[in-house]
Amino acid sequence: MRRELTVHQDAGRPADPLKYLAGYPDRILHEVGLLIAEGRLGQLLTRRYSAAHAIRTDRALYDYAVRLKNDYLRSCGPVSRVLYDSRITLERQALGLHRYQSLVQGSRLKTKNEIRIASLFKTAPLEFLRMIVVHELAHFKERDHNKAFYQLCEHMEPDYHQLEFDLRLYLTLLDRGETLYGTAPAGAAALSD
Ligand SMILES: [Zn+2]
Repeated sequence: MRRELTVHQDAGRPADPLKYLAGYPDRILHEVGLLIAEGRLGQLLTRRYSAAHAIRTDRALYDYAVRLKNDYLRSCGPVSRVLYDSRITLERQALGLHRYQSLVQGSRLKTKNEIRIASLFKTAPLEFLRMIVVHELAHFKERDHNKAFYQLCEHMEPDYHQLEFDLRLYLTLLDRGETLYGTAPAGAAALSD
């Protein structure tokens, strides 16, 4: 199993409102802090991402991931399984997981490529869902988060880095108990555990 975008938080300490943006320059953190103070973070995100998507079932998610994979990673082995997983929570581990298994069955080598996406993406903007699916698909080819991995992500989604940043803004918003589009995210309960 692979750990993604892990957030560490010591029990007993006040939560850092910008913990999902750790590592970004102070100038950026300052700007985001201002947006939060002025209550404009949600507004900014709804202006950029105007609607939720309709990929709400595991079947729809599977079809979506296979379409993306066929467009960009035709030569890689097939996608075995794709599902939303409500047990994937940010505090504990990740946003998405890619599991690769190869099994010897008789004289044949069988590979399994499984993708699990945190349930909070059910109610997120489509662009964020696309970003996380692209990330997990890129692991079909590159196991590590190296240069080739991010080049592949950008090949599949040219706005990959902007979307990752905006996703972190979105997580910051959810963490404050706010939502976009007036729907409670499926992962909200887990997020505030
Ligand atoms: Zn990864």
